[in-house]
This record gives sequence, structure tokens and C-alpha cells, in this order.
Amino acid sequence: MRPVINHTVKSSNAALAVTFLSAAILAGIVFLASLFGIFTRPSGLLALFWPANAILLGLMVRHPRFATPVGWAAAFAAYVAADLIMHGPLVKTLWLTGANIAGVFVGSLLYRFVGADHRRLREPQSVIIMFVICTAAALASAIVGGIAAGVTLNEAYFSGFEFWLVTELVNFIVVLPVVLIAPPFSEWTELLTLGNRETISWERNALPVAALILSMFISSLIGGPGAFAFPVPALLWCATSFSLFPTALLTLVFSIWGMMVFSSAGPVPDTDPLCWAQSIRLGLGMIAMAPLSVASVTTTRNFLLKRLQDSVDHDFLTRTLARGTLMARGENIVSQDSNPDGSAVLVLDIDHFKAVNDQFGHAAGDSALVAFANVVASTLRKDDLFGRTGGEEFCVVLPKTSALSAQAVAERIRQAVERLEIDIGSSEPLKITVSGGLAVRHGVSRLSFDDMLTRADTALYRAKAEGRNRIVSEAS
Ligand code: GH3
Ligand code: MG
Ligand code: MG
Repeated sequence: MRPVINHTVKSSNAALAVTFLSAAILAGIVFLASLFGIFTRPSGLLALFWPANAILLGLMVRHPRFATPVGWAAAFAAYVAADLIMHGPLVKTLWLTGANIAGVFVGSLLYRFVGADHRRLREPQSVIIMFVICTAAALASAIVGGIAAGVTLNEAYFSGFEFWLVTELVNFIVVLPVVLIAPPFSEWTELLTLGNRETISWERNALPVAALILSMFISSLIGGPGAFAFPVPALLWCATSFSLFPTALLTLVFSIWGMMVFSSAGPVPDTDPLCWAQSIRLGLGMIAMAPLSVASVTTTRNFLLKRLQDSVDHDFLTRTLARGTLMARGENIVSQDSNPDGSAVLVLDIDHFKAVNDQFGHAAGDSALVAFANVVASTLRKDDLFGRTGGEEFCVVLPKTSALSAQAVAERIRQAVERLEIDIGSSEPLKITVSGGLAVRHGVSRLSFDDMLTRADTALYRAKAEGRNRIVSEAS
């Protein structure tokens, strides 16, 4: 019994350590984000830009390990500590923290009813759902914040309520998406491509960003209450060019810029400056919804198209290239090949495969095809093509390969298949062999891909005729 108890104690200690470590990380993040908010707030007023609540909500939604009572207590302590360090009176600090936590709590509660795809903003209506949850969270903050304003600032309940509602709504809308969809740090280099493209295309990526910066600059020259909407076309260009995360970041930059430039610009005569700032902020928050929705839909569509293309390009059973894709890519490689080594085409056909099906059943035959494909794939290089051209027939295209190396590769494949032991759930593993026909094209040759296939097929026919389980090279 002893080791079992020890083990249980150890694992519960480990769980406790994880809980406290997560809470400490959370507290650190909330503390820093709160300090940032406090530094940007005008003296005597509440913060204009307060990212801490949206960051906390995003982390709670993304990592449920944060959402423990210890995590909530740590977040509470971090808000209080940040405000006290900046010499906030204790009662006021506690009320403000209560308002902050109330919104985040309601937001995280509502996100529990939302599926994982919506949390990652991967469905067409995810941004609308996020908006509804942000509104509810902002309302919860505003209900407590209104009382806080009355108690600590002697303000009318409604003006405090209104301030919290608008400020929190906008903060949530612009910051939450960034936290919800931020990729892990290991993938940040991929982000340099800014979209789902394979290679970095600076001109294509830089143009929408340049348009955004330029239109932000022009709109600050235009001035007036409607000018902050001027960069919307550039934002939409970014949203249709980049994936969701870069778009969310650019939208965040646009919103912070808008708050700085337009909320502080002098209001038209007879307008209360606070009302003016709130109105501008609300406008910026609603504008942010447009690029976010467009980028969310575009990213989801690109992801689905990629998956669709992937299933068109690959054989359903063996996940090797589908016949059509192999033919097109093989043609491409051979026609462009000017390498002095040339290239090679190897056609493979499993021996007596009909007998495998007849003896062990179709399911065992399928397992054999998968095992065969895996073992062949494991012997190939990254640039080699490998596809299924028919039932138990496969084709390998070896670019930049000499006749000698192609023969070595083919022989390696034959031997690996011969050694393969396929588990089909019976006492004895299933064994198979393969025959192959090899055609090689020298760098200067004018042979087409089709010619090479025909030659490889003829060689395969000979391999079968000569007794199977062998590789035959085309007669040269
Ligand atoms: P050979 O050595 O001359 O190539 O003989 P073979 O039996 O392999 O050749 P044949 O062309 O007569 O038979 C191929 C068999 O492959 C027939 C078919 O039942 C089987 N087959 C084709 N596609 C699949 C598949 O997707 N799954 C399974 N289990 N069997 C398949
Ligand atoms: Mg066959
Ligand atoms: Mg066969």
C-alpha cells in the first residue's frame, strides 16, 4: 500500500504546485496589465484604455487551469496591489477591483456555454457571440462600477454605469480576440508570413499595412467626429489579406490610436468632453467588429479550403498522393528537370494481393495497404513524390536522382516491404512482397513523364514475369 499512498500524495502535491504556479503567472500578468492601465489614465479620472480585464477573461477562457478559486483570488489580489502601489485609497481600490472582477467573471461564465471553435473565433458567427458576451460582461462591470462611482467619486449612479459600460465593452472587443487566438510562442515565426501563405511576400503583406497607416494619418488630418472611420477600407483590406491574429493585432493598434487621437481632440462646442470621448470610443469599438468578423470568416474559409484541397490531393486510405495530384506534380518535376543527375520513376505493385484479400478478408487487405504505404514513405526523402495510382499499385517519383541511386532506393523499398510484419489480429503477422519497375531519365534526355511511366510499367511487367519480389530497371 505504501507506494500507492506515496504516489497519490506526490501527484496531489504536483497538482497543487500547478494550481499555485498558474495563479502566480495570472497574478503577474494582471498586475502588469493593470499598471499599464493606471499609467495611461488621466490624473483623477478612470483609465481610458484598460486591457487587464480582457486579458484576464481571455486567459480564463483559453486555459481553464487558471479558472480556479485560487486563480480568481490571485487576480483579485493583483488588481488591488497594482492600484494600492499607485496610491489608490483602499475603499476605492476594492470597489474598482470588484467592478473589474464582476465583468470578467460573467464573461468567463458565459464562455463555458460556448464551443471550442467559437472560443477560437473559427465559426462565421463567433465574433457576434463574442460581442454578446462582451456586452454582458461590460454590463456586469457597469452595475458594480456605477455603485463604485457613487461611493468613491460621489458621482450619479448612471454616469458611472455608462462610463463602465462603454469603456469595458470597447476594451473587451478590441483586446479579447487577440488573447483568444494568440498562437503559442513556438509558432510566432510563422506569423511573419502574416497569413496562411507558404512564403513571405513582403510586397503583398506590406501594402495593406501601409494603406492602414496612411489612412490613419490622413484621417487625423481630416479631423472631425466621422474621420476616425476613414481607415475602415484599409482595415478590411488587411482582414481579407491576413489571418485572424494579425488582423486582430492591427485592429487593436487602430483602436488605441483612435482613442488617443480622437477622444482627446476638442469636442464640438456645448459637448461634455467625457461624453465626447465615450461616443468616440463606442464608435471605435463597433468599427473593430468589421475587420474582426471579416478576418474570422476568411480565416475559417481558408482553413476549410485547405482541408478540402488536402483531401483532394491525398488518397483516403493510405494518405499518399492521389493519382491525379501525383501525375500533375510528377509531370512538373520531370518537365522542369535539368539536373545532370536526372530523375527516376518507380512503379510498385504488391504481389498476389488478390490472394491476401481472399485469404484474410478485405479489412486485412486495407491494413496491409496502409502498412505498405507507411513503410515506403519512411524510406523516401522529403522531395520525393509517392502516390497511389490504383488498387495495390503505387508510384514513386525521385527528382535529382542518378540511375544508381534510384536503383538503391528501389531495392531498399523492396527489402523494407519484405521485412514488414503486418498485424491483422491473427496469431501470425501478414507478410507481403512487392515488385517494381524503374525508369530513369538523364538530365539531357527529352523523355516525358508519360514516356517514363510507360517504360516503368514495362519493366514492372517483366519483374512479375520473372518471379515477383524484385526490381527491374527498364532496358537501357
Ligand atoms: P500480381 O502479383 O500479379 O500483382 O497479383 P495481384 O493479385 O496483386 O493482382 P491483381 O491485379 O489480380 O489483384 C489486385 C487486387 O487488389 C484485387 C483487389 O481485390 C485488390 N484491391 C484493390 N484495391 C483494394 C483496396 O482498396 N483494398 C483492398 N483490401 N484490396 C484492394
Ligand atoms: Mg495490380
Ligand atoms: Mg498486384
